[in-house]
Amino acid sequence: MRAVVLDEDDTVGVKGASSRGICYAQKSLEIFERLGIYERIRAKGITWSVGRTFSGADEVYTFNLQDDSASEQPPFINLQQFYLEWFLVDRILELGASDLRWKSRVTKVEHESDAVVVEVETPAGRYALEAEWFIDATGANSRIRDAMGLEVNPSRSTDRWCITDVRFKTPFPTQRWTWVDAPFNEGRAVWQHLMADDVWRLDYQMAEDCDPEAISRPEVAGERLRAQLGPDVEFEFVWIGPYQYRDHLLETFRVGRTLFIGDSAHVVSPFGARGGNNGIQDAANLGWKLALVLAGEAEDGLLDSYHVERFAAAEENLTVCRRTARFLAPRSRAEHRIRRAVCTLARHHEFARRLANTGRMAQANAYPPSPWAPGGARSMQNVAFDGTTLMRCLAGGTRFLGLAVGADAATLVRLDEEAALLPIDFRRVDPASPLALHLGAAAGSVVIVRPDAYVAAVLPEARPEAVEAAMRAALGLDARTPLPLEPA
Ligand SMILES: Cc1cc2nc3c(=O)[nH]c(=O)nc-3n(C[C@H](O)[C@H](O)[C@H](O)COP(=O)(O)OP(=O)(O)OC[C@H]3O[C@@H](n4cnc5c(N)ncnc54)[C@H](O)[C@@H]3O)c2cc1C
Repeated sequence: MRAVVLDEDDTVGVKGASSRGICYAQKSLEIFERLGIYERIRAKGITWSVGRTFSGADEVYTFNLQDDSASEQPPFINLQQFYLEWFLVDRILELGASDLRWKSRVTKVEHESDAVVVEVETPAGRYALEAEWFIDATGANSRIRDAMGLEVNPSRSTDRWCITDVRFKTPFPTQRWTWVDAPFNEGRAVWQHLMADDVWRLDYQMAEDCDPEAISRPEVAGERLRAQLGPDVEFEFVWIGPYQYRDHLLETFRVGRTLFIGDSAHVVSPFGARGGNNGIQDAANLGWKLALVLAGEAEDGLLDSYHVERFAAAEENLTVCRRTARFLAPRSRAEHRIRRAVCTLARHHEFARRLANTGRMAQANAYPPSPWAPGGARSMQNVAFDGTTLMRCLAGGTRFLGLAVGADAATLVRLDEEAALLPIDFRRVDPASPLALHLGAAAGSVVIVRPDAYVAAVLPEARPEAVEAAMRAALGLDARTPLPLEPA
């Protein structure tokens, strides 16, 4: 898909700051595998799956996210966001289909019936650009969204934090450690994570009435480190940054030919790494739909499913993150008491561990039933099969996959022939393979997987008419629409 990418800046990351995002979840890593940058991320980043939670001086519980995973990608890799952006930019340039324009600020967006006219300001002057579709990915403070008068219902926390990115002489284990109420931080929460280049991110919850300038002075941050790690700890600062978080949710992710993705559409508190990871999933959800609409293989109504699915995901993430924020910053004595009870019980009882909420780590959200996915849609992991993986089979980016469990060669040929006008490829899956187990599909069935690795339909039998009906629903095509469609 050819695109013009406009950025008002000419750097990766945020000027004057260190990394914002650090944790990239399995679904994002699988998307990066499909985009061809996963190996670079794995080589540079820190792979982890074990998280340990402490309350006071005691360990409350440990989790290992690897235990439930069938994917070729690990549950998480930590990497500074500017590396990720850098690798993506390199890949965009390598693929050569997009025209990447730095120092190009979008100042105005006007909608015409069949196009969007975008005004662009550059150091060399202004110009107008006409596009069939426009994606606003300009982040939390999108002026484009605001100029269109769209409501995001923002809320700002009173909870304050201070990030200290630091290098130590002595290494710690590569695990995510969180304290609900650390004795060395006046009974407030602390996070500890390793990123690339041996940089640790320590994130300290601060008093709500603290002075941001005072808490981020190096001598004050150094005192916090010594309180946590002992008076002799040797370290060097990489970056210190105080912050407060906010959240918002845009009411609609599609307005005519403009689509909103990432922080422009939704912002959540940082607990659980649901911010950037969900922007990446927005892009994966929208990309194939837009490409098929542009290629004339789907009608533009399919883009409404982008709002339906990703809005539902954003709403769920907002709820999950707000619960965590409330657990970490109780608002009343009753909430404090409940939290103390949860932490005490969690030391001994499994059920209470599920209530000790230091962040529900980002996952691929399931989508609700809709005209495009009558049974809802769930994400599949990148399982290896037949010398390849699911993501490698989906690498083209716009073709569906029909996984025919236990099908014989004649059935595959028949399916291929009958579905020749639809964007779908068929593969046989061994009924005894890990993939069939992951799909939960019986021999004889066909599982239709979308280009974003979500299951569009599970058909109990390999019948071409059922495949066509399921594909028409997934593409938003009427039963009477002749195939193939005219390109848009
Ligand atoms: C402390 C902190 C920790 C975080 N940790 C994590 C984490 O571990 N994992 C995670 O997944 N997420 C994390 N996040 C969230 C993550 O950083 C954001 O969700 C993510 O950066 C959003 O990406 P985006 O592309 O939507 O917006 P941005 O990254 O804000 O990018 C917006 C882009 O638009 C450009 N732009 C803006 N206006 C214009 C204009 N008018 N014209 C042209 N270009 C424009 C900007 O230059 C910029 O390049 C964290 C955030 C914070 C603050």
